[in-house]
Amino acid sequence: MKILTIIGARPQFIKAASVSREIAKHTSLEELIIHTGQHFDENMSEVFFNEMDIPEPKINLGIAGQTHGMMTANMIAGLEPVFMEHKPDLVLVYGDTNSTLAGALAAVKLQIPIAHIEAGLRSFNLQMPEEINRILTDRISKYLFCPTTTAIKNLDNEGFRNHDCDVIFSGDVMQDSAIYYNKIADEKSTILSKLGLKKYILCTIHRAENTDDLQRLESIFEAINTLNQELDLVIPIHPRTRKIIEQKKIKCNAVLIDPVGYFDMISLIKNSELVITDSGGLQKEAFFFKKCCVTLREETEWVELVEEGFNMLAGFDKENIITSTHTMLNAHPDFNVNLYGNGHASQHIVLHLLSVLN
Ligand code: UDP
Repeated sequence: MKILTIIGARPQFIKAASVSREIAKHTSLEELIIHTGQHFDENMSEVFFNEMDIPEPKINLGIAGQTHGMMTANMIAGLEPVFMEHKPDLVLVYGDTNSTLAGALAAVKLQIPIAHIEAGLRSFNLQMPEEINRILTDRISKYLFCPTTTAIKNLDNEGFRNHDCDVIFSGDVMQDSAIYYNKIADEKSTILSKLGLKKYILCTIHRAENTDDLQRLESIFEAINTLNQELDLVIPIHPRTRKIIEQKKIKCNAVLIDPVGYFDMISLIKNSELVITDSGGLQKEAFFFKKCCVTLREETEWVELVEEGFNMLAGFDKENIITSTHTMLNAHPDFNVNLYGNGHASQHIVLHLLSVLN
């Protein structure tokens, strides 16, 4: 059975690493990886394939840096002939990027079943391009693998039980990656000594709603600069955010570094005092490594983290970010709760696919 996996952005490489390793254990499954090219810098793409032993993509479409509509359209146009040539039994897509939606649309038009990993997540904010991608991909997928019980509930509320699809609780594949690479990261990462880091807050910012709104971005950096007077802030900065802060000459006193590979990222999370982020994946990874998180958004798809007191939504208001950071630096929640399955999500997914494809 042939599976075509469509990936293109950093979080998808991290999710695919665990699932691809699991697929490779079954000789009846053949996986071909297609990279859309959405993320292309060495430190946004290649480093993950090398570090995490992700099989080399069969094809890289090289589609990046365009408007959302143009990018999605070009990806569909690029993927369709690939699907027609390889005739997969299944197309596998991850998360909520333009690559996810393009892969799903190209597949459904050719009547190829789609498996969506990280299905059912909702922020209920249609201003986010990711929310549109999630909803549409879920609607046309055949196998919806949900990382949380909230995701299952979301799909129930949208009537998915009446659709011709399987809604499955799988747990979170990012948790599989966090568990698998944890020890390897300890051995391989040198980032802490390289940067001379001891006590610090780890911070990432890249969501369009923050970077594309100058007032918001300035407010976030004002909070960062204030907090940085108390505790070092380290920011592996996304290329898009770097470009904007340089163009708009936004002041930043924190330690700005280029994006890091996954091993360095694990080490930076594990040894931090706290995580401040607008990333989806990083909110969960903070929890996996028993760190509290302040989220630079008004809402999150990972509501259980907020409900259980591991995460605080601070939005973009300077004072709110500072107060939330102080609150979370003093919070000591009990991290021994199971929110994302048992750490075998990838195995669960692959066994399910084997049973339905056979
Ligand atoms: N990440 C990384 N290096 C970095 C920044 C992030 O390896 O410099 C990882 C992070 O640990 C997480 C994933 O990239 O696994 C999250 O990606 P991103 O924040 O770009 O996307 P999102 O999760 O918001 O979709």
